[in-house]
Amino acid sequence: MKTITGSARCQTYDKREDVFKAVRKAVRLAGGLPDVKGKKVLIKPNLLSDAAPERAVTTHPQIIWAVAKLVQDAGGIVTIADSPGAGILYTPRTLHKVYSKCGIEEVAKELGITLDYDVGFKECNFPEGVVMKHFTVINQAYNADVIISVCKLKTHMFAHFSGAVKNTFGVIPGLDKPVFHSRFPDFTDFAEMLVDLNELVKPDFVVMDAIVGMEGNGPQGGSPKNVGYVLASKSVYGLDISAQTLISMPPESIATTIAALRRGLIEEVEVRGDEIVPVADFVPPSTYRQEVVHESWQKRNIYRRLQRVGKDIYSPSPVIDPKRCVGCGQCVRICPVKAAHISQGKASFNLTNCIRCYCCHDMSQYDAIIMRRPIVGEIIHSIIK
Ligand code: SF4
Ligand code: SF4
Repeated sequence: MKTITGSARCQTYDKREDVFKAVRKAVRLAGGLPDVKGKKVLIKPNLLSDAAPERAVTTHPQIIWAVAKLVQDAGGIVTIADSPGAGILYTPRTLHKVYSKCGIEEVAKELGITLDYDVGFKECNFPEGVVMKHFTVINQAYNADVIISVCKLKTHMFAHFSGAVKNTFGVIPGLDKPVFHSRFPDFTDFAEMLVDLNELVKPDFVVMDAIVGMEGNGPQGGSPKNVGYVLASKSVYGLDISAQTLISMPPESIATTIAALRRGLIEEVEVRGDEIVPVADFVPPSTYRQEVVHESWQKRNIYRRLQRVGKDIYSPSPVIDPKRCVGCGQCVRICPVKAAHISQGKASFNLTNCIRCYCCHDMSQYDAIIMRRPIVGEIIHSIIK
C-alpha cells in the first residue's frame, strides 16, 4: 500500500501565522483532511505530562491550534483529549493540570472549544488482534466520528522512537498503561500490541509536530532539538517512516515499523512538498541500536537474548540520583512489576525484578533517574551496535 506524506518546513513556533501555513500546506499535500463536516472530531495530541511546551515533551499548542482551526473551518465539532503517560491517574483534576500547563486550555478558549473532562472508558473486543484482542479505550476516542492524531517527534528509551503509532497509546486510560509493560516486556511484542491498537482505533489522519523534537533519552528526559518540519499523512505508519528518515533512524530498525511492514499495512511512502533532509546529528536514545532487517538472524537473536536473559549485564538499569529525588512516589505507582520502592524518602529499585521497561525514567519529572548500562554491557553494546 502506497501512502503520501505532506511535508512543510517551519523553523519556530514564534509566529502563529507561519505555523498555521505550514500545517495547512502539509495537510493539503497529504491529500487533505477527511470529511469532518458536522462530525465529532477528536484531536488527540501527545500530552505525556504537565510539561511546559518549550520542553518538547508534548505537542506544541500552536500546532494543536492550527489543526483545530482547520477542522473547525471545515465544519467539524472539535474535542481535544488525551490520557497522559503511564501511571498518571486519569482524573478531571489531572487533566485540568495537564491541559493548563501544556497550553491546551488557552487554545480551547481562543477557538471556543469546550474541553471534555470525562474520564470514562469503554471495553473494546478486537478479535483480529495479533497479540492483543481486547483494549480499554477512553470515551472521547470511542465516541469520535473522526480521530486526528497530532503527535510529537521524539525519541523513546523503550520504543526507541515515538511518533504517530506510539501516540495512539494515549487512548488507553492512565493506570492501565503499565499493565501492558508487564504483559509485553520485550519491545518487539509491545510493538505488535501497538499495531493492534492502531488497527482497532484507526486514526483517520495524523499531523506531526516536528518543528522542535526531542533527542537523547526521551520521551521526557531528552533534550529539545530543532528539526524544522510539520508532516501529515492519512497513515500513521507512513508518517512514522518519513519521520524516522528525517531523524536518521532507519525505519527498518524500529520495531513498530517492522511490524507494520511485515503485516503489509504499509509498503511505499511518497513525500510531497519540502524535501526531507535527514538530521545527521540527531541523538538517538542510549538503548538504541540499528537492528536492521538485513542483519543475520544470529546477530539479531544474540541481541534479543541479551535484552531478555542478560538484562543484568547488558541493558541500562535505573539508578537514582539522591540529590534530585524528592520521594514523590511517581515511579512506585508506575512500575508495572513493583520493582520501585521508597525508603527513607528516596526511591530505590529491585533490579532482579526490574524488567527494564523504563516507565519510571520516562515519567519522573525531576530528572532523578539515570539509566546506566553496566561496564560489561557498554563493551558488548559497542561491539554489536
Ligand atoms: S525517582 Fe523521581 S519519580 Fe521516583 S520518587 Fe524520586 S523524584 Fe519521584
Ligand atoms: S524499576 Fe524497572 S520495571 Fe519498574 S518502571 Fe523502572 S525500569 Fe520499569
